[in-house]
Amino acid sequence: MPIAERNYWLETVATPPVPSARDLPDSTDVAIVGGGFCGLSAARTLARRGVNVALFEAETFGWGASSRNGGMVLTGMKLPVPTLIHRYGRETVRKMYAASLETIDCVEQIVREEKIDCDFSRCGHLEVACKQAHFDGYEESAELVKREFNHELRVVSKSELRREIGSDIYFGGMVDEASAGLNPARYVAGLALAAQHAGARLHDHARVEKIEREPENGARKFRLHTSKGALTAREVILASGAYTMEATPALRKKIIPIGSYIVATEILSGNLSRELSPRNRMIYDSKHFLYYYRLTPDNRMLFGGRAAFFPETENTVRQSAEILRRGMITVYPQLRDAKIEFVWGGTLDFTLDVMPHAGKIDDMFFAAGFAGHGVAAATWFGAKLAGLICGEANDIPFANIKFPAAPIGLRSGNTWALPLAGAWYRILDLFT
Ligand SMILES: Cc1cc2nc3c(=O)[nH]c(=O)nc-3n(C[C@H](O)[C@H](O)[C@H](O)COP(=O)(O)OP(=O)(O)OC[C@H]3O[C@@H](n4cnc5c(N)ncnc54)[C@H](O)[C@@H]3O)c2cc1C
Repeated sequence: MPIAERNYWLETVATPPVPSARDLPDSTDVAIVGGGFCGLSAARTLARRGVNVALFEAETFGWGASSRNGGMVLTGMKLPVPTLIHRYGRETVRKMYAASLETIDCVEQIVREEKIDCDFSRCGHLEVACKQAHFDGYEESAELVKREFNHELRVVSKSELRREIGSDIYFGGMVDEASAGLNPARYVAGLALAAQHAGARLHDHARVEKIEREPENGARKFRLHTSKGALTAREVILASGAYTMEATPALRKKIIPIGSYIVATEILSGNLSRELSPRNRMIYDSKHFLYYYRLTPDNRMLFGGRAAFFPETENTVRQSAEILRRGMITVYPQLRDAKIEFVWGGTLDFTLDVMPHAGKIDDMFFAAGFAGHGVAAATWFGAKLAGLICGEANDIPFANIKFPAAPIGLRSGNTWALPLAGAWYRILDLFT
């Protein structure tokens, strides 16, 4: 019997959902499109600074990637540091790396200040090498990161790897103690509550359908048409991530929505879970088509990967359960008989250059392209955009880099070429 879609994280949320604001105002200082980490973090920061802010979420708060992810709060960026330095130069990459460390502090500070009960823990992450050649590069990477960014990574040889992971298939690993883990659905629910307490008006089931520019006495203004009515706003923040659709065509052209899927097992015994992950790390492997996995606070193995490249549908979710179970058993044969109790999928916002971007598009603020680093990055970018609106200097190191459009066939809403991209990455994994 195929297992039905069920998101483990959502079933652990103990607080009632934040109620939607009732009345739509005629106007607001700032309108935010999207109620995930990015939009809610921006709303919280703006409201705390006394700015009048209304947020619109097409579904429920946190419905998008923010409640569907692995809960890994990760340092660094998706691309290897030498590639980044080659592209953007040392100085810019130093700032980018420092920002990536700041994103984690930002999440930790919000969790602490708002007392969000989401199992935040600085448990560190472990990257495991799928090939000897990948492991051979780790020492050099660790030295580079130490030299350029004064940040410590620890290389773990194959003979020591059992102290980190109960699997023998890898060639070694690299640990970053600064990374953290949390329960994303509880975190995003807490963020929504915090934004609302600070005074933000949060509207759920309110899809922004169209945004027009409306000049008023020479000053620029936007008119937003939502499924709950229309209003004007002085500024707009686009925080719609991989779920960006036709309301904002210029941003939509830049986003490559890629599906990712997760299974979670039944609760494992304390002994078995300690064997699988003795230090409770956030773990991912060194492939392009990677697996990422971790224990949940109640000792389930949560195992994710790009089982299908397409964004989630009933079909892709169903197929993913078996594909991921097989993947999990190649890593952990100990889990051969463990029952899969949960499977779900979500969509990540990739960009062609695999970088996060922020700034203005059609005069509206936006941040996007967080890929698999969005738990920390989306929170931080949201707060940063809020800071820009409040008049802070723009010190976002990703703000001035070129933001390429996605090729036709990979763009949000029209992704027929995604299987080709998937096949390309599988080939890369064979040869690199
Ligand atoms: C399966 C999976 C695993 C992942 N694992 C990790 C991980 O372990 N660590 C990590 O750092 N990152 C991970 N990510 C990525 C991370 O979850 C995202 O980068 C992050 O949640 C993005 O947050 P966001 O606020 O930008 O977007 P989202 O959370 O996707 O929110 C965007 C929201 O905008 C709404 N929206 C869109 N258009 C409109 C509109 N017109 N009107 C109103 N609302 C609209 C959507 O309904 C959606 O709720 C994972 C993602 C997935 C899918």
